[in-house]
Amino acid sequence: MGRGVGVSNIFMYSKTPHFQIHQSLFKDGLKRKMKPNATDLYLFVMYEAQRYSTSIVSTTTAKVLDATGISESRFAEAREQLEELGLVRWERDKDGWLFYIDVGVTWKGLDFDTFTPDEVKKYFVDRTKDDKYTEDGNNGLWMRCPFHFTSKERQRSLSVKLIDDENTKGKKGQRGIGVWRCNNRQCKDKGRSGRLVDFEQQLMAENSVKRVTIEAAHRSVANFFASLRAGKLDVDVDKSFRDEVQVMLDGMEYDEEFSTP
Ligand SMILES: [Zn+2]
Repeated sequence: MGRGVGVSNIFMYSKTPHFQIHQSLFKDGLKRKMKPNATDLYLFVMYEAQRYSTSIVSTTTAKVLDATGISESRFAEAREQLEELGLVRWERDKDGWLFYIDVGVTWKGLDFDTFTPDEVKKYFVDRTKDDKYTEDGNNGLWMRCPFHFTSKERQRSLSVKLIDDENTKGKKGQRGIGVWRCNNRQCKDKGRSGRLVDFEQQLMAENSVKRVTIEAAHRSVANFFASLRAGKLDVDVDKSFRDEVQVMLDGMEYDEEFSTP
C-alpha cells in the first residue's frame, strides 16, 4: 500500500488550512521563467483569493508589500510578469489593485436561472463555510450568517431558499431559488437579503476595503458555477458521507501507525 491516502484533494480532511497554486508553474516550466518577486506576488494573490473564495482579489500596495516583502520599486515588474505569463491579470482600482485569476472557465452566457438546488446549496456551503447547516424541505437551508458575529454556535439565522416558490409574496426579485435573508435584527436593519449576486457582493465587500461592483460580484458567482459545472470544484455538502469518510481515514491512520516497521 502507498504511503498516502488516495484522494483527489489531499488536504480535504486536513485540520490546517492550505491553498492551491496552478500546476503550470512546474508542469509547463513557468516557474523557471518567473522572477522571485513575481512568485511572491503570485503566492500572495492565490492566498488572498482562496481565503475569500473569490477569483478577483482586491488589495492595496501597502498590503502586498507588507505580506510579500517585495520592494516598492519591484512591484510593477512582478505584476507585469504575472500578466505576461497568463497567470494573473490586474488593473488599478480606486485605492489599490484588482487581481483577476483565470480559473479556466468562461462565464459569459451562463444562465443564472438554470442553477439547480444542489448547485445553489454547494455555493452557499462554500461561501458560508458552514457545513453544519440544517435543511428543511420547504424553506431550504438554515446556515450560519457570515455578516454578523454570534457567540451561539448553534444559531443559524441565514435562510436560503432552494426551491423556486412562485407563490411567495415579497418584493420583486425576492422570489426564486437562491433567495436569502438573515433573520438577525442587526442584519435585517442592514438589509442583509437578496439573490445570489447580492450575497456575493456583500460578502466580497466584507472582505474588501473598497466598493465591490455588481459586475465583479456577478463574475465571481458565475466563475463559481462555471467551475462547478466543469467539474473543477469539489464542495462537500453530504454530511453523512463526509462523516463516514472521516471515520475511514481515522482508521487508516491508526493502522499505518502500527504497521510502520
Ligand atoms: Zn446575519
